[in-house]
Amino acid sequence: MPMLETTDLGERVASAPLVEIAGVRQVYHKGDNADLVVLDDVSLTIQQGEIVGLLGRSGSGKSTLLRIIAGLLQPTSGRVQWRGTPISGPCEGIAMVFQSFALFPWLTVLGNVELGLEALGIPASECRRRAIEAIDLIGLDGFESAYPKELSGGMRQRVGFARALVVHPRLMLMDEPFSALDVLTAETLRTDLIDLWSEGRLPIESILMVTHNIEEAVLLCDRILIFSSNPGRVASEVKVEIPHPRSRTDPVFRKLVDDIYGLMTQRPTTERVEKRTGGVVLGSGIGMALPRISTNRLSGLMEALASPPYDGSADLPDLAATLQMEVDDLFPIAEALQLLRFAEVAEGDVKLTPYGRRYVESSLDARKRLFADHLLAFVPLAGLIRRVLDERPSHRAPFRRFSEELEDHMSEERAEETMRAVISWGRYAELFGYDENTNELNLDNPA
Ligand code: ADP
Ligand code: MG
Repeated sequence: MPMLETTDLGERVASAPLVEIAGVRQVYHKGDNADLVVLDDVSLTIQQGEIVGLLGRSGSGKSTLLRIIAGLLQPTSGRVQWRGTPISGPCEGIAMVFQSFALFPWLTVLGNVELGLEALGIPASECRRRAIEAIDLIGLDGFESAYPKELSGGMRQRVGFARALVVHPRLMLMDEPFSALDVLTAETLRTDLIDLWSEGRLPIESILMVTHNIEEAVLLCDRILIFSSNPGRVASEVKVEIPHPRSRTDPVFRKLVDDIYGLMTQRPTTERVEKRTGGVVLGSGIGMALPRISTNRLSGLMEALASPPYDGSADLPDLAATLQMEVDDLFPIAEALQLLRFAEVAEGDVKLTPYGRRYVESSLDARKRLFADHLLAFVPLAGLIRRVLDERPSHRAPFRRFSEELEDHMSEERAEETMRAVISWGRYAELFGYDENTNELNLDNPA
């Protein structure tokens, strides 16, 4: 409901951007005397009526920035304004959706959704009415009295959305809201959200979404802020002017994804050697089956393609003859290169991408780093493994932790093969290690 603002201050407030931050810096003190500069000179504005994406790698300070905007964290320095006024604490016009859903297990769906309103001192009957409205809107009608443990991941996140929407915030902050969901569920929820937004049915003015997924950002956002790491900073901005509903196969969409990928991988080399704990995740999710092809064969094919007479592009049967291989044996290698965006396969031709060329021209160490970046960017399973290992205090996790999850998407055999593939690629890239004796993945070898 628009507020009547009659004072001079009111008019100024109404015309100001929702959020305006300038020169924000965040330093965490890590014991001893080591300081960690997480954000440095971050500036951005969020206007009414837009969906803004904040796209960056894991550890680049995205969640920190969201917490600052939500008023949950006071930055070390810099200006943070909400509708023209400095933010000094949690703000009523802002609600947050978390990656981990953050639901209370002992409360029903209705209880979880009502919670946000009770805190605002709204009368019980009004709370109930609005909670039911939000629950219906987000597609949970009939589940009011269910407990979180009785719901699927997708439904739990719907509760997370309802809990944010119920307060009718002007700005909804979303911290990687789809990344804990399986591929299909995430896509359904994205589509539902954007449909509601396009139809003007969401009781909000703007959305700021954090993601490490380029395609997700291009699918949902009007504007994408590309966040660089170490320290986090807005490195570039990309406008997405494709009308909704957007199609991932639209050439304009694909071009934008490629352009953004290019922007995100053009990083100074010093940054690459820092830490690579995460990455951009694209493609068809955890459930992508991987072929078991050694990195030697992948490198070998790229080298052959880069050399004369091919100079980057070859007819597959022709190349197979040169390499004294069957086309049927060559094709899976070319496809694996395509999966990793080192090559493109089309109409019987295989062609190195600029990344494939760069790979061939690089030293062994640089090859490994490039391979690691692509593995994290295009093989969601690799990103998951690395995330789990990073998050566990022991930095180890059993093989079965992942193979069982894969078995939700594919046969036991394919899951085994996919795990073996990702392990051999991950070892080469020095992203993670694997102990054959304990059947555990670990971070023992990588830097
Ligand atoms: P992102 O959401 O992009 O993955 P975060 O904002 O969560 O990044 O974290 C950025 C960096 O700051 C990480 O290196 C993280 O370990 C560190 N960090 C986050 N919160 C704290 C904290 N409260 N104290 C110290 N370091 C932190
Ligand atoms: Mg985060």
